[in-house]
Amino acid sequence: MATLELKLVPAPILRQKARPVAQVDARIRRLLEDMVETMYASQGIGLAAPQVGISQRAIVVDIGDGPICVVNPKLTLLGEEEELATEGCLSIPGVQGDVWRSLEVLVRGLDEQGRPLKLQAQGLLARVFQHEVDHLDGVLFTDKASDVRQVTPEEDSEMASEEGPLPGQQV
Ligand code: ZN
Repeated sequence: MATLELKLVPAPILRQKARPVAQVDARIRRLLEDMVETMYASQGIGLAAPQVGISQRAIVVDIGDGPICVVNPKLTLLGEEEELATEGCLSIPGVQGDVWRSLEVLVRGLDEQGRPLKLQAQGLLARVFQHEVDHLDGVLFTDKASDVRQVTPEEDSEMASEEGPLPGQQV
């Protein structure tokens, strides 16, 4: 495994709509492994392929319960309830903002073996999935956030959230 170089704003790839993955093959599995390693090395709790320079629809998430890899993720927002919480992003160092997100989502896609995957996520996990799938559509959290602010390196995170297991997480 290897850590990959993070793309930071204003890298154009962060604004592109990523292409669907045609086949979950060894190359994609290697990419997912490297993305997980890169996420951990950066103390992130989520990472999308465009953030490491690959414009394909693949994301990894780990809020402390182990890594979840999703290829070609599709989200369905469940219920009407939304929650406002603080987010950060590994691609936008030193910036946080408050974003309204659905409290519960259904995630469909393929796992790292190419098998169909379907899971329901709530709270922080639901938030991270929404943030990561936004990346695949070229959307950054700062597009949606209120009170966007500069933070110190200690406060910085990809997905800082009060309900999160760690202070200062980034996605
Ligand atoms: Zn992000």
